[in-house]
Amino acid sequence: MNLVGTKPFKTSTQKWNNWQWQLHNRLSSLHDLKQYLKLSQSEIAGLKYAQETFRVSITPYVISLMEFDNPLCPIRQQVIPTINEKISHPSDLIDPLGEEPYTAVEGLIHKYPDRALYLPIDNCASYCRYCTRSRLVNRGSLKTSKHTFDNVYNYIKSTPAIRDVLITGGDPLIMNTDTLCERISKINSISHVQMIRLGTRTPTFLPQIITQQLVKQLRTAGVLYVSLHINHPRELTPQTITALNIMADGGLVMGNQSVLLKGINDKAEIIKNLNHKLLQNRVTPYYLHLCDCVKGTSHFRTSIQTGIDIIDKLRGYTTGYAVPTLALDLPNGGGKVAISSNTIIKQNGKKFILRNYQGLDWQYQEV
Ligand SMILES: *Cc1c(COP(=O)(O)O)cnc(C)c1O
Repeated sequence: MNLVGTKPFKTSTQKWNNWQWQLHNRLSSLHDLKQYLKLSQSEIAGLKYAQETFRVSITPYVISLMEFDNPLCPIRQQVIPTINEKISHPSDLIDPLGEEPYTAVEGLIHKYPDRALYLPIDNCASYCRYCTRSRLVNRGSLKTSKHTFDNVYNYIKSTPAIRDVLITGGDPLIMNTDTLCERISKINSISHVQMIRLGTRTPTFLPQIITQQLVKQLRTAGVLYVSLHINHPRELTPQTITALNIMADGGLVMGNQSVLLKGINDKAEIIKNLNHKLLQNRVTPYYLHLCDCVKGTSHFRTSIQTGIDIIDKLRGYTTGYAVPTLALDLPNGGGKVAISSNTIIKQNGKKFILRNYQGLDWQYQEV
């Protein structure tokens, strides 16, 4: 018997590396968690409150990444509830992105003209406390049934404008792989569908699930792009890096969507370090999302200016690929807005004053 991880999970290496064992042994209750972590009063109260609101479930692997006695640990704050979840702010919404009116058929959100989100499952390997879809996730509201899929398929097939299908959830990689891949293949066979993207957080929460075999199946089914969700450099463990390498070697093109979270990653140094490590592992930073206005998550939200300041400390100072688009998804269905500091300082006809990365104003003359 080996002792794996930093906390005493007494199990064999073989079991520890088995994704099914990881899922089966997830920790949810106060009773379970306090055996591995020195919980704060706020976390204890948060865990009790979350029982009525949004499921807690954390793989032993993720627990092993946490600091035992630091509730501010960036891994811990993402998945362990605190009493702050009780705070209700006037900006809070149950459906922050106004997706319900764009639900074309159950499990399919069609908001932008040429792309649609297919949500085949409402489960994840672990649950982010700031989840945008906490209204759906783990509530039995996204059905994996064939009937639901048939309606999704028929809608996409009869909507020629859709050329890009994003499969997200929940975490689709938690589904039965054969079922998932069969469905992806069917969607991919629709002539107007040009690309399929898959969203997953398994490289952070359950890296053991990523194997050459899985990646091969996904590629064969037609998955081209994978959107990851990695928020902090500490998530890039040797196991996660192995998973990323398997995906890149298998031919998946990877982008990362980080969420800017107060007290977790809201510093330019953290985001820069994260993005450098992602690039080294063939993942391109795609979006830096301001945290959505989900009910009970106001304690995670930063100001817009915090996001702008972070981008300003990256642009010009590091590899352009390491600079993601700062995005705010507007409440009530307004959609994504890209935000950056203003670079056009003055315009007079064809004469411009532009501000460069150093904050210096330069003249530019259009033809
Ligand atoms: C974010 C999002 C997309 C994808 O947007 P991209 O900018 O293409 O990544 C598609 N549909 C919905 C509803 C979204 O929220």
